[in-house]
Amino acid sequence: MLNRQDTAVFQRQLLHWYQEHHRKLPWRETRDPYKIWVSEIMLQQTTVQAVLPYYQKWLKRFPDVQTLSQAPLQKVLKAWEGLGYYQRAKNLHRAAKVITDRHQGIIPQDFLSLKALPGFGPYTTAAVLSFAFHKPYPVLDGNIRRVLMRLENIKQKAKPSVDKTLKPFLSSLFAPKNSSVFNQAFIELGALICRPQNPSCLLCPIQRFCLAFHHGTQEIIPLPKKMVTQKVNAVLGIIKHQDCYLIQKRPSQGLMADLWEFPGGKIKSGETLEQALRREIKEELGTNIDHERFLTQVTHSYTRFRVTLTAFACTLEKKPSLNPRTHRWVKPQEFQNFPFPSGSVKVIQYLRDKQNIDKEDGK
Ligand code: SF4
Repeated sequence: MLNRQDTAVFQRQLLHWYQEHHRKLPWRETRDPYKIWVSEIMLQQTTVQAVLPYYQKWLKRFPDVQTLSQAPLQKVLKAWEGLGYYQRAKNLHRAAKVITDRHQGIIPQDFLSLKALPGFGPYTTAAVLSFAFHKPYPVLDGNIRRVLMRLENIKQKAKPSVDKTLKPFLSSLFAPKNSSVFNQAFIELGALICRPQNPSCLLCPIQRFCLAFHHGTQEIIPLPKKMVTQKVNAVLGIIKHQDCYLIQKRPSQGLMADLWEFPGGKIKSGETLEQALRREIKEELGTNIDHERFLTQVTHSYTRFRVTLTAFACTLEKKPSLNPRTHRWVKPQEFQNFPFPSGSVKVIQYLRDKQNIDKEDGK
């Protein structure tokens, strides 16, 4: 812990650096709690660069809590398509409904009411209260956790369990009267200077207070986590009837819940692609494949797994009888009305490109 005098210097230097060097980001130019909340949810597990275009589009489509609360879930998921972790979009939608129904459409300003809303953990609650309402709550996100660990030279993995040690230290550094700017400054320092790799210690405004810098350990803190990337292989059946393709809705629980996809699924051990395809189509649609033809193979990396999708054009022995709530025949131009996982979006792009080539060839 720093003494009072050093704490004051620490705060002054951090805030001064922020005033001079921070990025102008749209959510920093507003006090609108809805816009700040949306940005905080989007920024979870996602970079600023990836969030920016989504953020602007989202606010055009859903400019306020009421509009979001009244939007159909499928439109909400479509606006989120490609951003990943779709539970975040569902929670935004659910929380907007609660705010409209129970709080007269006004985002609560007290910690407990806000934290009771879907998707509001301790971080998001403190961030919205601090950034929108200037309430004196310090925030502790991944960036700040890393900076604090280096300041204290804590040679551990950056797990939430280390927060027990970090929270009292953060509180001792916190500037409650400048809550919003202090929190933003700390986050920005972690993003621009005290980066996960190659921190720019020579440019760091709080270098003199940093134990890791003095011990030369900043590059190894936090200790690396073991990331296991799972490989997933799946087959898809592209089934066409007249001008329409068959798509189906994923279950409302689990991975990529409520998104749409082409029929198909994971390849089991020992199966060929064709065997897996025939089994999956029989299981899902209750009918056999008459004929299949390889179309394309795409890969997509999600945070914890890398999926390879092999798509086949299929004809079925008979047209399946389907539930319209979970299955639809859609024209290519209607794909844009349905949210798909990013891997399926690549297959759709292939189908669009192929259709254009076929048109040019006069097929
Ligand atoms: S001196 Fe280096 S390691 Fe320490 S806080 Fe600054 S950037 Fe991070």
